[in-house]
Amino acid sequence: MWSVNGHMDGERLVSPQSRPEEQPGWAYRPQRLADWIGQARVRETLQVLLEAAQQRGEPLEHLLFYGPPGLGKTTLAHILAHEMGVNIKVTAGPAIERPGDLAAILTNLRAGDVLFIDEIHRLPKAVEEVLYPAMEDFALDIVLGKGPAARAVRLRLPRFTLIGATTRLALVSAPLRARFGAVLRLDFYEEEDLTRILEQAAAHMRLEVTPEGLREIARRARGTPRIALRLLRRVRDYAQVRAEGRITLEVAREALTMLHIDELGLDDVDRRVLRTLIEKFRGGPVGLQTLAAAISEAPDTLMEVVEPYLLRLGLLERTAQGRVATPRAYEHLGYPPPPGHQPSLLPPEEA
Ligand code: ADP
Repeated sequence: MWSVNGHMDGERLVSPQSRPEEQPGWAYRPQRLADWIGQARVRETLQVLLEAAQQRGEPLEHLLFYGPPGLGKTTLAHILAHEMGVNIKVTAGPAIERPGDLAAILTNLRAGDVLFIDEIHRLPKAVEEVLYPAMEDFALDIVLGKGPAARAVRLRLPRFTLIGATTRLALVSAPLRARFGAVLRLDFYEEEDLTRILEQAAAHMRLEVTPEGLREIARRARGTPRIALRLLRRVRDYAQVRAEGRITLEVAREALTMLHIDELGLDDVDRRVLRTLIEKFRGGPVGLQTLAAAISEAPDTLMEVVEPYLLRLGLLERTAQGRVATPRAYEHLGYPPPPGHQPSLLPPEEA
């Protein structure tokens, strides 16, 4: 039960990607924008868009959320639909293979409904082209018949709201991006906000916890609500078996150590990436493909799932020549400082 699989396919404990048991319905999700914790700027922007749309009696504008996985993009889409009092249809880029698939979804929407497309950067080009007039004019252009007898017909669609989510904004084409009313970036959460999210969840789960215990879990959760909630569940299991169900600072520490999650929230995969960089490539620079091959991971996973947090902690840098382990990474993993790096003992102005 406590085995930790260092690989990302399947059981990586700190993977920000969701698992089946965490799909809507199972997970505890806030329902209203007011209960949404953290990300103050995004919340304020949405509050204004929401109120304006409600006052005018119109559907919300199309919105695009981007940022690393597990930060709440799907949850926000549900909250917005709930606040607007409309239905939400959830799908994902790779699931819409042909224009006909999209046409079927669009024609089944009701006025005001939200269509949420996760991983929108993975929509096939032909499907994307059907989406443009649908977003802009609420129209579906279809061709009936073939050859000289073929004719184009324009079907009217109900006014709907498209909410797209992506971990890779750069891969969303410019014409698609231009059709969203607002493009909003979700960032990693502050420790305090994660602690509040955990407090809410702990109350919901009726757990016996101390504030210090929760803060420790939040501190090691990589700024990601999904990971924080997952760690909370694992610590709960540990507390149940070893500590009569009480989550204290000490119990949280023991449980997280047992799960191989270190002081900074790094797991075996993160450490393997940094160690490989340091030991095999003398700290870099090394290209993404080469690094991914050296640790047997997919380059996309490395880039979307592992690197953002290492970058944020300042353990890794992306340079034009490739990935570089920073002196902080050497220090964190207990290596002597990298060659050429002179740790300065003087105050910065004298150094
Ligand atoms: P994403 O779509 O960005 O991958 P999700 O919307 O699936 O992320 O969120 C992951 C989990 O974190 C969900 O269980 C959700 O309830 C929770 N969560 C995310 N953001 C918040 C927040 N601001 N407040 C409370 N819970 C949150």
